[in-house]
Amino acid sequence: METQLAVLGGGPGGYAAAFLAADLGMQVVLVDQEARLGGVCLLRGCIPSKALLHVAKGIAEARHLADWGVHFGQPQVDLAAMQARKAKVIDTLTGGLKQLAAKRKVQLVRARATFESSQVLRLHTVDGQSPPDDRLAFQHCILASGSVPTTIPGLTLECPRVMDSTAALELPDVPESLLVVGGGYIGLELGTVYAALGSRVTVVEMTDGLLPGVDRDLVRPLHKKLESQFAAIYLNTKVAALKDLGHSVEAVFDGPVQPKTQRFGRVLVAVGRRPNSSNLALENTRVSVDAKGFVQVDVQRRTADPHILAIGDVAGEPMLAHKATHEGKTAVEALAGHPVEFRPRAIPAVVFTDPEIAWAGLTESQAKQQGRKFETAVFPWGASGRAQAAGRTEGLTKWIFDPQSQRVLGCGIVGAGAGELIAEAVLAIELGCHLRDLAETIHPHPTLSESLGIAAEVPLGMATDIFRPKR
Ligand code: NAD
Repeated sequence: METQLAVLGGGPGGYAAAFLAADLGMQVVLVDQEARLGGVCLLRGCIPSKALLHVAKGIAEARHLADWGVHFGQPQVDLAAMQARKAKVIDTLTGGLKQLAAKRKVQLVRARATFESSQVLRLHTVDGQSPPDDRLAFQHCILASGSVPTTIPGLTLECPRVMDSTAALELPDVPESLLVVGGGYIGLELGTVYAALGSRVTVVEMTDGLLPGVDRDLVRPLHKKLESQFAAIYLNTKVAALKDLGHSVEAVFDGPVQPKTQRFGRVLVAVGRRPNSSNLALENTRVSVDAKGFVQVDVQRRTADPHILAIGDVAGEPMLAHKATHEGKTAVEALAGHPVEFRPRAIPAVVFTDPEIAWAGLTESQAKQQGRKFETAVFPWGASGRAQAAGRTEGLTKWIFDPQSQRVLGCGIVGAGAGELIAEAVLAIELGCHLRDLAETIHPHPTLSESLGIAAEVPLGMATDIFRPKR
């Protein structure tokens, strides 16, 4: 087989690249070892986790109504029905992608691929299903092979009770107790799901706070809320050993935790992901890989090999689907000869917990690390009519801006719906808005989106919803 463009990987980076390339007139073959398009994000990541978080949100909101005098009974959970409903979401979306590929005449090949050279992929059989040919020659290849969960060195336990995110999303049961190792995105999102369904969730995090790297003022309200949702949160703690007891797993903790040995119905290990760059025989190409396994790319996502580009998780942090999609489009436009570069001012990140945390652009911690002059403009949601009406006053909205020009450089939001609210901030940062632009933009009342305008008014001495006149 031969093609003009081979795309290796069918996730949000790979399929976006393949589809745009076809729209621009290229002949495209997309190779993935999975039977269905969508990658980790759609098949066992972003989308199934959001389907389950949707359920968790419904349960939490029903409980919350007790504050307003409305009482429901304990939820009756039919796990099989929930799994089937989640599967339907995935089936619909992956089916849609298959149709979109067919309409564009993107040829889909199911195979595990490795590089034989800078212009040839070897196609290997998966699950006994042979590809149409054992080689695919290409003019260019876009590598979009994604990432895989990391494990804790010396702590691999072949036991079905110890799960990674893939197994946890299958929702095999609702264990009476769940130990979550890693207080990052996955641990907290899936911990939220299992806690809502009735598990007693314990989180162990090796650093001194949940979501390391995220500004502490954003994490604080979430931490406080999680303390009421979870059985325990152990910081500065590692799991030293796990022992399979058959009906449960015994964990030994290394940290300021008592008792040091505790038993759990199941364990979820979510300690990060690593780029999928080994097992591709990249040594047969001129592609270079850094010490962490990320493929090194330039602003057009070209690798050191003139025939190969790389996008998404395999090409560097942050390992987020929307970054992959945009990189995919940049790579394809670059191949089409368009003068493009991947230089975003802001890549949004969202942790879909309750409350959600979202940020974009420069964070306060990064600004401090870089020794960069900055100021913050903060609006606490306690002064928001909409937040009061919804009983969600724990949130806050924060701009990070340049004190001299008053241009916005970053934004952080914690609160219900923060993941949707951050989009306005991304646009403002990309367009180089100043505080005044945001303050003069009329936001609808009563909404939480007003918090973005009001926060910008604070340093200008124009915020009338709180008392902080300009000195
Ligand atoms: P993560 O990097 O977000 O969090 C891992 C956490 O585990 C960190 O807090 C780390 O300090 C801790 N840790 C590491 N080793 C440990 C140990 N031995 N004991 C205790 N704690 C330990 O990783 P993740 O949650 O596995 O998610 C992986 C990636 O997937 C994320 O970086 C993100 O890019 C992506 N993701 C994104 C979303 C989203 O956008 N909402 C959701 C899920 C995953």
